[in-house]
Amino acid sequence: MIVMKFGGTSVGSAERIRALAERVRERRSERPVVVVSALSGVTDQLVRGARLALAHDAALESVVPELRARHETAVRELLPEGAARERVLAHVAACTEELRVVYTGVNYLEDLTARSLDAISAMGERLSAEIVGAALHALGLPTQAVDARRLLVTDDAFGRAIPDMEATGARVQAELVPELQAGRIPVLGGFIGATPKGVTTTLGRGGSDWSAAIFGALLPAREIQIWTDVDGMLTLDPRVFPRARVIPEVSFDEAAELAYFGAKVLHPATIKPAVERGIPVRILNSLNPAAPGTRITRDAPGIAGEPRAIAFKKGISVLQISQPRMLMAHGFVARVFDVFARHRTPVDLIATSEVSISLTVDQPETLPAVQKDLEALGDVRLLPGNAIVSVVGRGFLQRPGLAARLFSALRDVNVLMISFGASDVNLSCVVAEADAERAVRSLHHEFFKEAAA
Ligand code: ADP
Ligand code: ASP
Ligand code: MG
Repeated sequence: MIVMKFGGTSVGSAERIRALAERVRERRSERPVVVVSALSGVTDQLVRGARLALAHDAALESVVPELRARHETAVRELLPEGAARERVLAHVAACTEELRVVYTGVNYLEDLTARSLDAISAMGERLSAEIVGAALHALGLPTQAVDARRLLVTDDAFGRAIPDMEATGARVQAELVPELQAGRIPVLGGFIGATPKGVTTTLGRGGSDWSAAIFGALLPAREIQIWTDVDGMLTLDPRVFPRARVIPEVSFDEAAELAYFGAKVLHPATIKPAVERGIPVRILNSLNPAAPGTRITRDAPGIAGEPRAIAFKKGISVLQISQPRMLMAHGFVARVFDVFARHRTPVDLIATSEVSISLTVDQPETLPAVQKDLEALGDVRLLPGNAIVSVVGRGFLQRPGLAARLFSALRDVNVLMISFGASDVNLSCVVAEADAERAVRSLHHEFFKEAAA
């Protein structure tokens, strides 16, 4: 068994879905389970609609009709006239009508809860799974669309739900494995799940990769394939540096670090269920299947101290808490972290001095509440508009001169914070957002000797 996950661009149009069908056909003998994202841009549009509904913005009017038209066009292009097409068109009509009702509720009550936002943003995958399932069937593959909310059981942390592996595992064995044994190819939407009571949840943006890894771990699959629109994991985001190189093999810990620090090709949480069970993950290009892609494995070969890739993450706020009297008193740091824990706000980098502590956060929603609570502990400064740039590899702590090379590459950039030594796979620093691209190109040049164009 294998899991084949196709991201938004790989299901973005009828043409892309036909290419996807070829990829599945080529691997049919390996008993694939197909996991799909929403059509590209749809999740953004669904969320935008929710914000418009909340703001009583007249632009909301076109959101549902546009979404409906886009999905109907895909159905008409992929399915011949007949009962199957009518059934999928009815599904599109029902989902978009449900969406209209939820938007009306948000608009009317002037209230957008995390729970309603999940009901809204889950619609993209509910639509794409049915459409892709039916399209592959029409193209001669024995597929079966399955509503992933029946399988993926999560807690009720709407917007960032955590899967219950045991409950999900039981459903996978009861509902998914028999489909495979009967020779069918299940097609599921990624990103979405439901609480034990059946309330729709989502795993967070980009969460389809995580769904693929969860199903892959529970089946268990021989390999989890993440099909996307680039040739694999690259030494730098190709949108910033188009001549970045493909990394043939990378270890789970390096990939997790890269994903976490902004190499958005993979959802950070993907790695965990796969690594726990030793299942390799491969990143492949659905439009260039001949490219070998990137294999993510437990122990990828590599030279200790050689960076594997450069990543960056914008939208970072730095919080500085100063408390001249209290910092080194015991319990102070614990109280600071307790504030972040209470607001479920993850901290990325930390630096301390005798009288202050600096932290970075990339979750703007909870920042005002966090800042308010921190003010009870000391003087707080909030510096928004920063970026974390990271050099990721392995064996960094045994390599003399690495930090010198980083600083030399960044000699013309103002560095606000630096973190080295927390792990031997990462060397990170904070720079202003406006300097981020220049900083990573210069780091790429230093470590990969390929000059920016
Ligand atoms: P999908 O819709 O398939 O999930 P994503 O947009 O989530 O695709 O991820 C693929 C994109 O990730 C690429 O198109 C690329 O722009 C971006 N990306 C950022 N950093 C990297 C990197 N280091 N290697 C490859 N792709 C990267
Ligand atoms: N469609 C969701 C998103 O855009 C999940 C995903 O594609 O992974 O975030
Ligand atoms: Mg993605």
